[in-house]
This record gives sequence, C-alpha cells and structure tokens, in this order.
Amino acid sequence: MMDVLFAWLQASSSALWCAGVFVAGAVVGLVLSRVVARRMALAWIGGLVLGVASLGSVWAAEYFEPLPRFVLDTQDIGQVVPAGQGMLGWLADRVHGRKYLVLSFDDGPSNPRTDSAILAILARHHAHAVFFSVCAHAQSAEGRAALRADAAAGDLVEDHSWTHPHLPQESAAALHHEIADSRVFLRQLTGQPVDWFRPPFGQADAAVRAQIRQAGMQEVMWGANSEDSWLRSPAQIQYWSTRQAYNGAILLMHSHATTAAALDATLTDLEGMGYRFVIPSLHPDE
Ligand SMILES: [Zn+2]
Repeated sequence: MMDVLFAWLQASSSALWCAGVFVAGAVVGLVLSRVVARRMALAWIGGLVLGVASLGSVWAAEYFEPLPRFVLDTQDIGQVVPAGQGMLGWLADRVHGRKYLVLSFDDGPSNPRTDSAILAILARHHAHAVFFSVCAHAQSAEGRAALRADAAAGDLVEDHSWTHPHLPQESAAALHHEIADSRVFLRQLTGQPVDWFRPPFGQADAAVRAQIRQAGMQEVMWGANSEDSWLRSPAQIQYWSTRQAYNGAILLMHSHATTAAALDATLTDLEGMGYRFVIPSLHPDE
C-alpha cells in the first residue's frame, strides 16, 4: 500500500495533470448541460474523464518507469517475480509491453575467447546475467580471471557444483564438496555472495536439496530453454530462445562458442519483443 502511495507521490505531476483534466471535463459538462439534456451532458463528462484518464495513465507510464526488483518465485523456481512493484510501474509494463527475462549461462568458465565474447555482447546490450559456474573449470588462471571479470561486470557468479556430476548418485561427503565447498571457492574468488545453486542436469533429490539449504543457498532451475546444450546451429539457439521466453522466465543458456555466436542476434530479437534483461536481488541482507 505504501509503495503504491509512494509511486503516486513520485508521479505527482501526472496526478495533478489528471486532476486538471477532471476539472476541465466538469466545466465542459456544465457548458454542455446548458445546450443539451442533462443526461447527455453526464455521458459526455463521463466519457471525457475516462478517455483523458487513460491517456494520462499512458503518459504517466512513459514518464515514470521504475525497474522493479526481482526475486525467485517460491512456487516455480524457474522464474522470478517482481518484489514491491508500484501501481504505476505495473501499469507502465502493461502500457509499453515491457517484459523481463533473466539470462543464465551454465558450465562456464569455458575458454577466454567464448567467455569474453559473451561479456562483450552482454555489455553491448546493457544486459546482466547469472553465470552458474563449475569450479573445476575455474582452476586455471584463465578460468579464475573469467569469473572475476563476470563479477566485475556486475553479473552474478553462482554455484553449479565442483565437477558437474549427477548429484543424486553421489555420497553425502561428495555432495558436501560439490555444493558447500564450491560455494566457498566461488565466494573467495569473486569476493561476492553466492546464494543460488543450479544442480547439474537439473537433477536434485531430497538429499541434494538438504545440502543446498544447509550450505545457505536457494535451488534454481529454468523456465525457458535455449536448447543450446545439444543444438549446434546459432540460428536454432536464437529460434528456441525467443520461442520459449516468457515474462519473468529464467532462460537457460551455456557458456558455449555456439551460444556466443547466437547471442547478439538473440538479444536483439528479445529486445524487439519487449524484453529487458534483469538479474534478481539475491542478497537482501548482505
Ligand atoms: Zn550444467
């Protein structure tokens, strides 16, 4: 309730504008009531006020465009939902057809060429992404540098295990290494909190989930799939990314050369569809 009020206060110029139009409508109605029947005049006023109010909303929405904060949807861990979005922000999204997508890249770091290509394309689109990283890929100086570069660019480096195994087949000790140790490694490497864990192959059972919780992370999946884990043509990856994207979805991609080749055109297509690329607020208390 307070944030709705706050949004209105911030857009008080548009509220004044709507009030002014309301008064103008009343004056026009008064003048009309001298000329035509009273009922007709009331219809005129109502129509005018409604029409102008919706025009005012469109104007206010364009004028006032706060980017909402996003958090993981607790019902569906493949998507995010806006947290504390004001009424005008909600309206602005509807009026302007704005949609939101979380870009996620699994299995990196890959190689310097692919990693830096992905970062450069994201920067060109003013986009940020979540990198679900495999610690075994980050043991070389190049691998560590790639993850530090991701974090320095404002992207999120999150946990995708140490060796990318099928976790439900692992022992408790191995699970601890794959989940908790990898979190510590990534935190120390980037100097940033690591709060999300995406299980390799999307495979998790009760024991895996318990370890993720114990390590202080949230399990995360995806709601849209670029299908780039098996497709080898950039055009196909572009096609599936745009086809599967929906408002609030987390899009699954990989730090692969083919994905890097498809990325620029894919992001351009998605922007054309109204998407903005957001990263969730993961660390509210840090
Ligand atoms: Zn993976």
